[in-house]
Amino acid sequence: MTIHRILESWLLHANRRPKILIADDQPTNIKVLHELLGAQCDVFMATGGADAITICQRELPDLVLLDVVMDDIDGHEVCRLLKADPLTSAIPIIFITSQSQEADEVMALQLGAVDFITKPINPTIVNARVSTHLTLKLQGDLLRASALLDGLTGVGNRRKFDEDLLKDWRYTARKKEPLSIVMLDVDSFKRYNDQYGHQAGDVCLKSVARAISEALRRPYDSVARYGGEEFACLLPSTDLRGATVLAETIQACIRALGIEHAASDVAPVLTVSIGVASAMPTPSANPHDLIETADRQLYQAKRSGRARVCSIAAEFKLQDAQ
Ligand code: GH3
Ligand code: MG
Ligand code: MG
Repeated sequence: MTIHRILESWLLHANRRPKILIADDQPTNIKVLHELLGAQCDVFMATGGADAITICQRELPDLVLLDVVMDDIDGHEVCRLLKADPLTSAIPIIFITSQSQEADEVMALQLGAVDFITKPINPTIVNARVSTHLTLKLQGDLLRASALLDGLTGVGNRRKFDEDLLKDWRYTARKKEPLSIVMLDVDSFKRYNDQYGHQAGDVCLKSVARAISEALRRPYDSVARYGGEEFACLLPSTDLRGATVLAETIQACIRALGIEHAASDVAPVLTVSIGVASAMPTPSANPHDLIETADRQLYQAKRSGRARVCSIAAEFKLQDAQ
C-alpha cells in the first residue's frame, strides 16, 4: 500500500493523520525524510536522543524513525529507554542508519525495533516500510480499542473499567484530589425481560448506557458496563457531594426516558438504583475497596426500596495496605 492510501485509512478509522517522529543529529537527513512524509503525516523532529524521548512521552507518535549515532544519547539507548517505559514501549521504531553491517541490523531488531533502513535512503523503500508499519500500528490500535468496548451498548467494558480505575487512582493520588465511583443497577430487570422479551431488554440497556453517557460532562469522566444490567462511572477530581448530585441527575434522566415497565413493583417506568462512594486515593491503598464501598451503597439503595441514590455520609476512609 502506498503512503497516500495509508493517510486515507488513518483519516477514515482513526479520524486523524499518523504522527511520526524523525530523530537524527543531521538536519539535512531530517529534511529529506520530512519532504518524503510531511504531506501525509504529522512530523515531529528531534536532533538529539534526549529530545526524541521527551517528544515520544509527550506526543506518543505512531512511528519513530531513529538515527543510531547521535551526540547526547545514541539511538540504541533511546530505543532501550523507550521500550523500558510502559508509556512508550508500544511505539514502533525503525532505525535509519549508515551502519549497514548485518550485526547492526541484528542489534536493532534485538532492541525491539520493527525494521532497519540503511542510508543513503531509497525513497521507495522508506515509503513502503513506513506504510507497512503505520498500517500495523493502526490495526493494533483499532483492535485494542474494540477489545475495551462493550459490544451491546458501545460504552467501555469491564476490562476498560479496570484499566481506567488504576489510571484514575494514580492520577488523583498524585494530584491529591478525590475519586468517586457511581454504581448503577437496573431495577427489576429480570421481570422486564420476562414481560417484554430479551431483545427489548437489550434495547433498554442501550438507552440506559446512552442516558448515562450524556449525563457525564467532564472530559475525564467515564462509564463502563460493569456486568449484565450494571454500569459503573469513574469521576476523577469529583467529591462525594458532586458525585451524588450527578447520580441523582442520572437517576432522573433514566426515569424521564419513560420506558414502560408494567411488571415493576417500583414504578410504571424503568428505574435504576445507584450507590455512590468517594475517597482520597493514596498509592498504597487498594482501589477495589472503593468499588466495594459503592457496591454496598447500591445494595443499601436496593434494600431501602429501589429507584434511589445512596451515598455514604462521610468521605470513605481508606485502609492503608501496609
Ligand atoms: P433488582 O432490582 O434486585 O436488581 O432485580 P433484577 O431483576 O434487576 O436483578 P437480577 O440480578 O435478578 O436480574 C438481572 C437480569 O438482567 C437477569 C438477566 O437476564 C438480565 N440481563 C443481564 N444481562 C442482560 C443483557 O445483556 N440483555 C438482557 N436483555 N438482559 C440482561
Ligand atoms: Mg444486577
Ligand atoms: Mg437489577
